[in-house]
Amino acid sequence: MRQSQLFGKTFKEAPKDEVSVNAVLLARAGFIDKVSAGIYTYLPLGLRVLNKVQNIIREEMNAIGGQEIRMPALHPKELWATTGRWTDPGDEVMFQFKTKSDKEYGLGWTHEEVVTPLVKKFVQSYKDLPIYLYQIQDKFRNEPRAKSGLMRGIEFSMKDLYSFHRDEQDLEAYYQKALAAYQVIFKRCGLDSLVTEASGGSFSKYSHEFQVLTEYGEDTIYYCDACDFSQNKEVAEVKSGDTCPRCNRGTVTEGKAIEVGNIFQLKNKYSDPFKLEYTDEDGTKKSVMMGCYGIGPSRVMGSIVEVHHDDGGMIWPDSVAPFQAHLISLGEDDSATTVYKELIAAGVEVLFDDRGVSAGQKFADADLIGIPYRLVISKKTKGKIEIKKRNSTDASLEDTTAVLALLKS
Ligand code: ATP
Ligand code: MG
Repeated sequence: MRQSQLFGKTFKEAPKDEVSVNAVLLARAGFIDKVSAGIYTYLPLGLRVLNKVQNIIREEMNAIGGQEIRMPALHPKELWATTGRWTDPGDEVMFQFKTKSDKEYGLGWTHEEVVTPLVKKFVQSYKDLPIYLYQIQDKFRNEPRAKSGLMRGIEFSMKDLYSFHRDEQDLEAYYQKALAAYQVIFKRCGLDSLVTEASGGSFSKYSHEFQVLTEYGEDTIYYCDACDFSQNKEVAEVKSGDTCPRCNRGTVTEGKAIEVGNIFQLKNKYSDPFKLEYTDEDGTKKSVMMGCYGIGPSRVMGSIVEVHHDDGGMIWPDSVAPFQAHLISLGEDDSATTVYKELIAAGVEVLFDDRGVSAGQKFADADLIGIPYRLVISKKTKGKIEIKKRNSTDASLEDTTAVLALLKS
């Protein structure tokens, strides 16, 4: 992509109405545009990142047998009245409205009320189970504190997986598989996530949250400095300074964290109100056991920025970077164009800064945008390419073959 053609520009100043690091950097670098609190447009650079995060999630969901579907965002009241959630939590969370002809709808903030009756249409016998369905879709929530950029949207991206089982044992086995898949997803996205015990609601002792430590997180967690023990404050049986109850070695530490994922064993909480049952091998009717597993790709994107940045701007992990290489021409447009074409032919995702602006601005923008490799072609590079990683100060002069080898490594 030629930067001269790219829709979106960088800004020197932070937007006046943003306070969070992710919103400030993403807006300044031309990744997102704020429409209103908690509501954003993704510009081409931002959408490339969001798509990459979503595709990592897709791959890992497919790997544990998930099948992708797409449910609607617009839900008739009747579905939500069935579980009682039209009134509790009702419009505290859900955007609800009436049409001119008095039909009532709400915007989906989760999808148990749509997926459960869907599955009911296709399940009669134990032979029809298990089922694993997921979607990646926009959710809507009436969030009163939408001040954290992509980390707390009113409209935001969510991947929600729902699993359907014969019994609790099968649910538990799949739950462990999903938990492992989640750890892989966050790792691939460049996030260290702590599997954290949290409230399971009215139906389970615990749920598991995936928490990323960041000083701007809204949750407080207690975690062990030596093993993988971690509990959300809301259920914590420990306090800061305690000896870890799991390993008996480490010390429990308090930290601020952001929840990037949450998995629950719903059991029969939603299958019962919708009478989602199956006939077991012995002929008896039983409730289908359900699990649900959520990740916010947009919150993941915001969290990556919170964790990976410096004074100059963002530092994208390779796996989710909008481009792999940022090629900068300083008055050497012909040779840079040749290299640009070679990189594209080799399958490298490259942003080519061919703009007629100063070297200083090109370098500052490259730091702000945060693409993993910066490639500079100028008089000084004498027919070679200066290659530098965004998170390093070491640069070296290489020929195109060596640059390609580095980019592909
Ligand atoms: P929180 O406690 O932060 O409000 P939640 O527990 O209500 O989140 P879930 O219902 O568990 O969220 O949603 C699943 C995932 O969707 C969360 O782990 C998070 O990654 C994401 N998510 C939830 N709410 C938002 C939001 N307002 N903006 C962006 N992502 C969100
Ligand atoms: Mg949650």
